[in-house]
Amino acid sequence: MNAPLNADLHCHSVVSDGTLTPEELAQRAKAQGVTLWALTDHDEIGGQARAAAAAAACGLDYLSGVEISVTFLHQTVHIVGLGFDVNDASLAEGLQQTRGGRSQRAREMAADLARVGIQGTFEGALKYVGNPNLISRTHFARYLVETGVCKDTYEVFRKYLTEGKPGFVEHRWASLKDAVRWITQAAGMAVIAHPARYKFSANEELALFTEFKGHGGQGVEVVTGSHSAAESANYAAIALEFGLAASRGSDFHSPDESRTELGTLPDLPVQLTPVWDLLADRIQRAPIPAQA
Ligand code: AMP
Ligand code: MN
Ligand code: MN
Ligand code: MN
Repeated sequence: MNAPLNADLHCHSVVSDGTLTPEELAQRAKAQGVTLWALTDHDEIGGQARAAAAAAACGLDYLSGVEISVTFLHQTVHIVGLGFDVNDASLAEGLQQTRGGRSQRAREMAADLARVGIQGTFEGALKYVGNPNLISRTHFARYLVETGVCKDTYEVFRKYLTEGKPGFVEHRWASLKDAVRWITQAAGMAVIAHPARYKFSANEELALFTEFKGHGGQGVEVVTGSHSAAESANYAAIALEFGLAASRGSDFHSPDESRTELGTLPDLPVQLTPVWDLLADRIQRAPIPAQA
């Protein structure tokens, strides 16, 4: 049997809410022993050309990537797209629509934080934003840490910015159907990101997986930075039950904040079909170095 691949198919750069550039991430992934990599910025593919070029330059195989924000049964669900055509016009337009309401939402988040006495967070968060179209909760979290309101971003998301807490603003993202369609019509594979992070009932989760499959979704993240071993085992069983391929990705955002380093996750359970087996013809292979 072949040795398992060190694939890391989920991480973020300054083009969304990460702190490293696409080039820094490629080099870090390489140094961590990753051989197949994807940059999956939130709702944005503006970093894809740089990521693919940097991957080729340091000898990494590359898959195009994105993580689309979706609203499903009143919760935010993330759908990762892999191996799509980065020049697809409908995908670009869909992502642009999805990014649309972020600035207004950020102003409302800041207004809500001001109501509990935390001032200036819109301007504060903006200092951390690498892409003006993509202000996210993570940028607010960094400012709340900088100003000593919280000791780290984990504390921020426990006390603020999440449902029922100050700074949370309900938002309508893309539909599940549209997100899956944008990805698959661009010749990519749609993958349910970090499924254990959602707070669905058993019936709601069944609806998510059933509808996702029905729209043409083909994969699920089984091994991710935010899954425990038990959660990975649970979603391995669900992948088999639904006939979904399995993905593996750290969801790395920053050397200072991320608990999971690039390329350091457990291997996928052997009984599963890795997403990269189905995406073999979509992988941009690193040039083979010339022999000395
Ligand atoms: P947004 O797209 O603006 O809603 O921001 C979502 C991002 O905030 C996620 O991609 C994570 O990077 C971060 N985030 C959200 N919830 C949490 C949480 N509970 N703990 C840590 N980071 C979180
Ligand atoms: Mn993020
Ligand atoms: Mn996510
Ligand atoms: Mn992510």
